[in-house]
Amino acid sequence: MKGHAAFLLIITSFFSFSLLFTTPVSAADDWKVFEANCCSIKYQTDEHLRNFTFRIGGFKFTSEGLDDNPANVKIKVDDVMGKVQSILDMHPADLHISILLYPDHSTLDRIFRQFTSTGNTPIAFYSHKTKSIYVDISSVTDGVLGHEIAHAVINFYFVTPPPAKMQEILAQYVDLHLWD
Ligand SMILES: [Zn+2]
Repeated sequence: MKGHAAFLLIITSFFSFSLLFTTPVSAADDWKVFEANCCSIKYQTDEHLRNFTFRIGGFKFTSEGLDDNPANVKIKVDDVMGKVQSILDMHPADLHISILLYPDHSTLDRIFRQFTSTGNTPIAFYSHKTKSIYVDISSVTDGVLGHEIAHAVINFYFVTPPPAKMQEILAQYVDLHLWD
């Protein structure tokens, strides 16, 4: 019985120890995840997911009214992802990214400043270091999303990613011709 108690104590201390290093820094790090084909869409409230889906054109008007089925987000994101890859004719096999949804410009600004202290905070940006697209859902469009997905696809496709300027030209081309 004594041995058992000691064993439990060790387990408990180990558990607290690991918690110390896995507990999110703030509640803002608690994400819900919706899986699409090549990406995990991470969001904090259902409203954020709905707004994002609406902004990128994933809502359909049906005879019953606005269809806000959350599955529409997967349909729409997969659609943009497929279109971007076909425009670029780049289909990297290991492509998998996260798309993180933030409710407004100031929240995204705080995230952006963790990456750089210069330049204006964009509506969305891609970091290949974290393999993530960070999105301000109050301003995003399907073109903006396509543009950032293009950056992701290009970075996964090339062993040595092309220079920033060249990537930008390609990403702008994608964004312009997304639904041609
Ligand atoms: Zn760009």
